[in-house]
Amino acid sequence: YFVSFEGPDGAGKSTVLQAVLTQIKDQLEPQYLVTREPGGSHIAEQIRDMILDPANEAMTAKTEALLYAAQRGQHVEEVVKPALAAGKLVFSDRYVDSSLAYQGAGRGLGIAQVAAINNFATAGLMPDLTIFLDLDPAIGLARIKKARAGSEDRLEQEQLAFHQKVYAGYQEIVAQDPERIKVINANQPLERVVDETIACLKQNLPT
Ligand code: C5P
Repeated sequence: YFVSFEGPDGAGKSTVLQAVLTQIKDQLEPQYLVTREPGGSHIAEQIRDMILDPANEAMTAKTEALLYAAQRGQHVEEVVKPALAAGKLVFSDRYVDSSLAYQGAGRGLGIAQVAAINNFATAGLMPDLTIFLDLDPAIGLARIKKARAGSEDRLEQEQLAFHQKVYAGYQEIVAQDPERIKVINANQPLERVVDETIACLKQNLPT
């Protein structure tokens, strides 16, 4: 059984996932595995470094989308599929929906186009369940900014515009697949977000 965690920057995916596992790991049968994107295997981590390297700012949106799809395909073959085949429960911090939202909607490549290259890269492997941590991107960016010193206003406006497109993309994806994707309001105290996520997992995980 395969579970992905999704959400805009600042929604708290990694924090919530860690807190959830701390609370329920004893109840998780059979064994489980936690992994993250971009990365999750040696080759996938190297591709991730290439994508995130500031020296590669000339990278086109298409190259970025193809590299994300490549690292995902590698991650699936090396990490996710073997774990699923061994009967493990797999949690991934981000998966295909991130590319549909960031590269498809955010960078404007189109959700269907990006879905097609990811379908090729992963041989169509989709999560059984996706937890979408729903947060207004302006609040997400403000949360991130709080942890850093103030940056330039114009840059911030551009960032917000990008993240608003990403968020609109996520909403389109959620609307297309409400059976798989469960929405949790992330604009609540961490404890509540964690409780609601645990309740959602308990309702959906196979027993
Ligand atoms: O998971 P995390 O929030 O740490 O993601 C790292 C960064 O990679 C984020 O800032 C996100 O904007 C970016 N990202 C992306 N496209 C993806 C996945 C992540 O631009 N498909």
